[in-house]
Amino acid sequence: MLTNDVLDRWDRDNFFHPSTHLAQHARGETPSRIVTGGKGVFIEDRDGNRLLDAFAGLYCVNVGYGRPEIAEAIAAQAKELAYYHAYVGHGTEASITLAKMVLERAPKNMSKVYFGLGGSDANETNVKLVWYYNNILGRPQKKKIISRWRGYHGSGLVTGSLTGLATFHNKFDLPLSQVIHTEAPYWYRRPDLSMSEADFVTFCADELEKLIAREGADTIAAFIGEPVLGTGGIVPPPPGYWAAIQKVLKKHDILLIADEVVTGFGRLGTMFGSDHYGIEPDIITIAKGLTSAYAPLSGSIIGDRVWEVLEKGTDENGPIGHGWTYSAHPIGAAAGVANLKLIDDLGLVKNAGEIGAYFNEAMKDAIGRHAHVGEVRGEGLLCAVEFVEDRGKRTFFDPARKVGPAIAAALLRRGVIGRAMPQGDILGFAPPLCLTRAEADEVVGKTFEAVAEVLG
Ligand code: PLP
Repeated sequence: MLTNDVLDRWDRDNFFHPSTHLAQHARGETPSRIVTGGKGVFIEDRDGNRLLDAFAGLYCVNVGYGRPEIAEAIAAQAKELAYYHAYVGHGTEASITLAKMVLERAPKNMSKVYFGLGGSDANETNVKLVWYYNNILGRPQKKKIISRWRGYHGSGLVTGSLTGLATFHNKFDLPLSQVIHTEAPYWYRRPDLSMSEADFVTFCADELEKLIAREGADTIAAFIGEPVLGTGGIVPPPPGYWAAIQKVLKKHDILLIADEVVTGFGRLGTMFGSDHYGIEPDIITIAKGLTSAYAPLSGSIIGDRVWEVLEKGTDENGPIGHGWTYSAHPIGAAAGVANLKLIDDLGLVKNAGEIGAYFNEAMKDAIGRHAHVGEVRGEGLLCAVEFVEDRGKRTFFDPARKVGPAIAAALLRRGVIGRAMPQGDILGFAPPLCLTRAEADEVVGKTFEAVAEVLG
C-alpha cells in the first residue's frame, strides 16, 4: 500500500481538485484528506479519523455510506453488461426500470426522463430543450433564462451562468448574456427589515415582474429555481413565495424548471421539493439523491407540455440532436434502481421529515440565542446557521476573519463535518437521510462547542 507521504506528494503534483485554492494546495499549505471508507453517516480517513459526515458528501449520499444493496447491484450490472449506449432507442433493464420508478415518484404531469451524469449537465440539457421548445413553437426570440441571485445550478458555461454566486462568475467571463438574475427569497436579508414575510413575497414577485417588463416577456423562456436555495446559503423560501412566483410565470408564458438536485428523493421529508411547496414545474432537474452518489447519474424529468412540443419537433426535424455517450449509463441506472428501493424500504423520506424537524429545533435551542448567531433556519434535513457580527443590525463579519470556515474547522476537529457555505458566514448541514436522533444530538452538541470556541 502506498504511504500517506507518497500519496500526499502525488496528489499535490498531479491532481487538479475542484473548488480548491490551487496554488496553496500545490505548495502544500492547505490540508488534504484521503478518505478510505464509510458506514452509515460516518466516513474514515487514512489517518484513522472517524468523522460524522453531516453534509452527506455534497448533500448526495442520502442513504448513507456502505450500503451493500447498492454496491451489489452495481457489481452485478458491471459483470453482466458494464456499458451500452442509449442512442436511437437502446436501453437496458436498469435504465428502463429506473425511468419508470422516477416517474412513479415524480409530481403530476411529468412525461419522460432523460438521464445524464451530474446536476450541471442536466441543467445544460434543460436549457437546450427550452430553447428547442421555443424554436419549434416559432418564437425564436423567447430564449432568456431567469435565475435567482444565490441560486446554484452547476458550474458549466450556461449552468455556471445560472448560478448566482460571484465565485462562479469572476474571471470566467460569466454570466452569459442569455441568463439574467432576480431577487433571492432570502427573508433574513430582506432589503428593509420592516417588511413582513408577506410583504417580502410581494416584493420578490414585483422584482420578477419588473425584470420581465424590462427585458420583454417575449424574450424570456424559463425561470429556474431550487425549491430551497442550497449552496447559496440553505434558505427556505417564505410562505407563499412559490405561489406568487408561479402566478407571474404563468401570466407571461414562462416555463418553470425546478432544480431538485438537492431536494429530490426525500431531503425535505417529501419525495420532491415541488410536492412540499406546491410547485408545478415544466422540467425537474435530478441528480445526487437519484443514486445517493454511488454512481454518477442525473436526470431531466420533462413535463407533458414540453414533451408534446419535443415530439412535434422530431416529427418536423428528425431525431433530437442531443445526447451523451454515458446517458443512462447502465451502472448508474442499476445504482439508481437499488437506491430508490432502499429509500422506500428504510422509510427515509419520512425519517428526513421527522429527524429533520427534530434536528432543526435542537440546533435552534442550542445556539439560536448566541450573540453572533443571526439565524438558524432549515427544512427537512437541511439546516443552516448564519453568523453575524451584530445580531440587531445583521452586520457581516469582516470576510478576512473567515468566521464560517473557522467554525467548520473547529467542528471538524471534534469529528463532525459541516460545510462553510461559499458566500457569507454560513455553516450548512445536509446529513444522510438515515440520521438518527442520537447522531443529530451529536452534531448539535459539537456545533455548540465549535461556536463557543471560535466566537465565545
Ligand atoms: N443544482 C443544484 C441545486 C446543486 O446543488 C448542484 C450541485 O451541488 C448542481 C445543480 C450541480 O450538480 P453537479 O455538481 O453534479 O454538476
